[in-house]
Amino acid sequence: MISALMPTYNRANLAFDHGNGVWLFTVDGRRFLDFGAGIATSSLGHNHPLLCKAISEQAKKVIHVSNLYQIPQAIKLAERLIAISFADSVFFCNSGAEANEGVIKAIRRAQYKNNHPERTDIICFNHAFHGRTIATLNATGNQKYLEGFGPKIPGIKHIPIHDIDLVKEAINQNTAGFLIEPIQGESGITVISPDFLKALRQICDENDLFLGFDEVQCGVGRTGKFFAYQWTDIEPDILSLAKGIAGGVPMGAFLAKEKIAKHMTFGTHGSTFGGNPLACAAGNAVMDIILKPGFLKNIRETGLYLKEQLQQLTEIYPDVYAEVRGKGLLLGLKGAIPANEIQNAALEQNLLTVLAGNNVIRIIPPLIITKEECLDGIHRLRNAAEQLRKNLKSVQ
Ligand SMILES: *Cc1c(COP(=O)(O)O)cnc(C)c1O
Repeated sequence: MISALMPTYNRANLAFDHGNGVWLFTVDGRRFLDFGAGIATSSLGHNHPLLCKAISEQAKKVIHVSNLYQIPQAIKLAERLIAISFADSVFFCNSGAEANEGVIKAIRRAQYKNNHPERTDIICFNHAFHGRTIATLNATGNQKYLEGFGPKIPGIKHIPIHDIDLVKEAINQNTAGFLIEPIQGESGITVISPDFLKALRQICDENDLFLGFDEVQCGVGRTGKFFAYQWTDIEPDILSLAKGIAGGVPMGAFLAKEKIAKHMTFGTHGSTFGGNPLACAAGNAVMDIILKPGFLKNIRETGLYLKEQLQQLTEIYPDVYAEVRGKGLLLGLKGAIPANEIQNAALEQNLLTVLAGNNVIRIIPPLIITKEECLDGIHRLRNAAEQLRKNLKSVQ
């Protein structure tokens, strides 16, 4: 018989009852170190006092009113995002896919209103991940994910990363803009070179195309800068956020320059839940913490420390761990053996990680993690490697 929940996920046989900081506790009292943060989402860890307070206080006042009314919490959050970014205006929604839908719509709409209704094509990149709705699934472009879900939608193209000649070849009179993750997350933590992003910026400027960044996974402090694009000296025209933005409360957003946002007029887009008082209270609490002086610097330092420790593991256990990649606390550990075996061995050591493509496990702990807690995780990965080595020997 089918399970009550549709079988779309391969779930570990673990149910968590509660959490505290970087720790999660099962119903039967076992403690796990959380290097997954609910897929880079529980940015402040679990049971963060300020986040919990903000949510519970807002819940007691009002949870939802709809966008038929003013929502001061949403205005405040938008103004804060604008103050620290390239953007002039924000639209709130509820997930990453929804944010990217908005990015695609806004890019097309702005081209349309600029007397270029023929410019509808969004150029995406191989190994991207932009979500699972029909449009974002097509933007993701993964054949396996597309199978059985009908014809591909027109107006989306894919090209390889890091080949600027192919980018120039790909653009034509129908091109509207680009959508790219500055760090590809789902497909295995691939940092896009700043030079390539810069070249995309230049091509957009020369051809009146729009540059969209998907920072759903790499944004909101994850890399040690609030936005991942801030590691480069260029800016996008439009950018999506979700995952960590409200510390685990469902929320997404897209931020745009005025030249795009001004075309998203009354009636062009909407979301019933988007930007509700509860989610915005959570988002503002996350901002309160991340924008505290020194918090982002601390992520950079902790991330560098964790990366160095992981690199040492690849030197000690090259037969298990092949390579470390990523930035800040968005790290990937590539397996010399199948990554799911590494993930299982880590789980045996009560360490939670997240699988990605390209035989990588993602190391994406809450942003509040300390160096001591990182070291604890490293010990668990060391024990996991020792165990995997024993198994390797016994097979031989
Ligand atoms: C997770 C993710 C998405 C999709 O977000 P959902 O909230 O699952 O819809 C889109 N883009 C990137 C880069 C992601 O990591």
